[in-house]
Amino acid sequence: MTDRQLLDVAFNLPIDRLFTYYTPEALEVPVGARVIAPFGRRSLAGFVVGHPSDVPDGVREVKEITRVTNNEPLFTADYLPLAEWVRRMYFASLGEALSAMIPGGRKETAVPGLSLGEEAPAQTKLDLSDEQQQALDAVMKSEGSIFYLFGITGSGKTEVFLQAAEQVIAEGKSAIYLVPEIALTHQLLDSVAHRFAGSVAVLHSRLTPSQRLTEWQRIRRGEARFIVGARSAVFAPVPRLGLIVVDEEHDGSYKSGASPRYHARQVAMKRVAEEKARLLLGSATPSVEAWHLMQSDKLHRLRLTRRLSGGAMPTVEVIDLARDQGPLSRPLLDALRETRAEGRQSILFLNRRGFAHFFHCRSCGYEMTCKRCSVGLTYHKERNLMICHYCGYRTNPISVCPDCGSLDVGYSGFGTERIEEELTRVFPDWSIRRVDSDAVRKKGVLQETIEQFRAGEIDVLLGTQMVAKGLNFPGVKLVGIVLADTGLHLPDFRAAERTFSLIVQVAGRAGRFHPDGRVLVQTYQPQNPAIRFAVAHDLEAFYANELSVRQDLSFPPFSRLIRIVIRGRSAQRVREIAARIGSACNREGLGDEILGPSECPLATVNRNVRYQVIIRTATFGATHERLAALLPSVDVPASVFLEIDVDPVALL
Ligand code: ADP
Ligand code: ZN
Ligand code: ZN
Repeated sequence: MTDRQLLDVAFNLPIDRLFTYYTPEALEVPVGARVIAPFGRRSLAGFVVGHPSDVPDGVREVKEITRVTNNEPLFTADYLPLAEWVRRMYFASLGEALSAMIPGGRKETAVPGLSLGEEAPAQTKLDLSDEQQQALDAVMKSEGSIFYLFGITGSGKTEVFLQAAEQVIAEGKSAIYLVPEIALTHQLLDSVAHRFAGSVAVLHSRLTPSQRLTEWQRIRRGEARFIVGARSAVFAPVPRLGLIVVDEEHDGSYKSGASPRYHARQVAMKRVAEEKARLLLGSATPSVEAWHLMQSDKLHRLRLTRRLSGGAMPTVEVIDLARDQGPLSRPLLDALRETRAEGRQSILFLNRRGFAHFFHCRSCGYEMTCKRCSVGLTYHKERNLMICHYCGYRTNPISVCPDCGSLDVGYSGFGTERIEEELTRVFPDWSIRRVDSDAVRKKGVLQETIEQFRAGEIDVLLGTQMVAKGLNFPGVKLVGIVLADTGLHLPDFRAAERTFSLIVQVAGRAGRFHPDGRVLVQTYQPQNPAIRFAVAHDLEAFYANELSVRQDLSFPPFSRLIRIVIRGRSAQRVREIAARIGSACNREGLGDEILGPSECPLATVNRNVRYQVIIRTATFGATHERLAALLPSVDVPASVFLEIDVDPVALL
């Protein structure tokens, strides 16, 4: 019988230390095992990350783990430096880092989506165009470089990515292909299932935790060498990394919203540098940072300028809603009619679900807001409920104003539900379908709708982001953007960038296979640069304008930000801690400027009062290091939480 072994265990807790346990007698538990161990009065799952030779000083009682949950370890010791980097870079604990990296570590639910490769058409390698071939050659000739495939929507970026992956796999290495978190990547998965038969692994949010774990182990054993997945797939434990592709590089879903708040693009850069692999980013609308790096030649730009499936860039017209009344203006209705008369299809896009996003009193101005958040409630007519889109709080609509007793209460503003109702009223005998997270909650509905639309059985497909990305429909002639300004009012320095790329991406759904695509953009702000330049498809002008605005403000990419959100139930406590952190940062002279402490634009979410301190710095490494040294010295009570966001993508 051997001695009991000592284990260092990392838990998914915001406590930046490891905990020591014994194995039950004679049990060998390797690094990378997941174990259950007693923790206070609870029982917690954690990862074994080491075997200390002695009980650490000051630890009086060492308990035994309860059991080992996986026979096969989830990682080996050489995986730990990456986790350690995530821990340090994003101010997390090692357990939080590992739990974000490895499936099953966090609570996950599978979302309804499309199944993999059921009726996959026999997809074969396409003969590349000259532009595509040049791009591929440039990437493959290099070793360990970073490239940006900047190509208009529909210019065949996917084919370049896939052929680069094929070559890397032929070299005996693995390729990770990242896509934004969307349910509609089936076009990619279909072609991939054929071309990489047997060696594909998919890490996707619609898999259950145990399915993801199975994929994870196939990757770790080197059985699957082409890995497709959303954000967290960047952590895939491939034995020999050859290539990471980040498709739709500009997409906000690459940034994690929970600790560790990592950005998959940043992790990818770190990994390719360490593992001497290639990185290939791509988009039709690069992020402002990426554009800036390309301009300063730190990122090698490869261009694709032509559509390859017989399409051309669509014509784009603007409808000023100040003159033509919305939400469905006469020109838009006319265009819908014409399109249907020609036997073609339309997509309508509105990035706002529900029926109406205001419910207020016309006598005194009272507005129905969430009880737990400082935001208005959205009216969902189908369910006859007022719902908070931040915390899920729901309540019944009112018919009498609770403030003044007036009966003159009602909704204003519009969401996808209301547009659907209007369309159905105007075109009663058309086939109109809505695609948003409310409409496709039931399993299979999304897939069915997509198939019907592709088969030409639907005249108008109406939806949110879900219809904006990744879809390729041959029959579409018209794309209508119902309201282009939905994101512009947000008090956030990236609002213009997000609005611009969304319009260009949505417009890019038209004219993919025919040269007569048409886009109508409805807006109250036709002169806003984000809208004006998107409509003109003038990317150079947009980025030049946006970069000069950012430079004037010394905002990213001309500096970097670290944002500290302080939140808790007690406003007084939160203000106190925020003040303490603000003055500690000021005393230390962190960065170039300390903004705040101030209330967050979203001042309350889920009954938590939120304050923020933002550090702006031109010398990121030094500032980061000093902040890491300073934070442990700030005394934070258990009722107050800190969220530290390095390079935040939003400041709401
Ligand atoms: P992007 O990702 O750049 O928006 P896609 O990769 O979706 O564009 O390609 C658009 C269309 O062009 C697809 O239907 C694809 O099959 C087709 N395509 C790509 N490369 C070629 C090629 N070399 N020859 C013919 N068609 C191509
Ligand atoms: Zn009132
Ligand atoms: Zn709420």
